[in-house]
Amino acid sequence: MTDTTTPKSLQQIHTATGRHWVGDGFPVSTVFAYTDLGRDLNPFIMLDYAAPYVFEPTERRRGVGEHPHRGFETVTVVYDGHLEHRDSSGGGGTIGPGDVQWMTAGAGIVHEEMHTDAFARAGGTMRMAQLWVNLPAELKRTPPGYQTILASTIPTAAIAGGALRVIAGEYAGVRGPAKTFTPMNVCDVRLDAGADTALDLPSGWTAALFVMEGQVEMADGRALGAGQLGIFSRDGSRIALRCDGPVQALLLAAEPIDEPMVGYGPFVMNTREEIVEAFRDYEAGRMGRLA
Ligand code: MN
Repeated sequence: MTDTTTPKSLQQIHTATGRHWVGDGFPVSTVFAYTDLGRDLNPFIMLDYAAPYVFEPTERRRGVGEHPHRGFETVTVVYDGHLEHRDSSGGGGTIGPGDVQWMTAGAGIVHEEMHTDAFARAGGTMRMAQLWVNLPAELKRTPPGYQTILASTIPTAAIAGGALRVIAGEYAGVRGPAKTFTPMNVCDVRLDAGADTALDLPSGWTAALFVMEGQVEMADGRALGAGQLGIFSRDGSRIALRCDGPVQALLLAAEPIDEPMVGYGPFVMNTREEIVEAFRDYEAGRMGRLA
């Protein structure tokens, strides 16, 4: 039988380079941002990845102190280490390996993102990713919210040669726990050594694969290594993957948001006027304060 599924073509390979500190807690590479590839990957407008980094024990917690956001959601996936979050909507919680926090900044929120006390005192390896998910114009002022998504609640969809941990969206009938405002898949992808497999995604969706560990070969023979992002065509519905060794990657696929986007620092809106307004509102305390 002929497979008539149209492939999504690999349009671009982007290598995350450089590293900078977010606060004193997160040594990240910015894989993409709303000023560059995030324009094409919208609703995925920023991805920071903190590769494994060993922190020495300390009495003082590291992290990033009080700061605002408006107009989108921040999604933090912890692979190693323990983080604690607190925000002006009353949301908060501690997350560890495999856990996710999905924070809706919406109309405005103020939060801090810290290592936990216990992690700071013991020291250890931190590895995490933070993804920013845009909100469509009519939802940018939605009330702020916070979802703690524990690893134990994240289901796994089996694929040939591996598995998908479905954080958001639905894959092969397996539905992830994150509540999202627009249709998307956010999944951790695990491929076993020697996998020869494919991911099936809706045609018309934006799609990207960020490789964190290992190397994966695409249908056209090009390969994505650790720290590389593959960006695929919206057209087509299948991404074929092959690998020799084990692979760990983050799959981002979504219905695009094709709207004007103006971002500055922690605010991502549709117009310049709304950015000016966001700074004014934050300074006037209208995004709340940390208790
Ligand atoms: Mn933040």
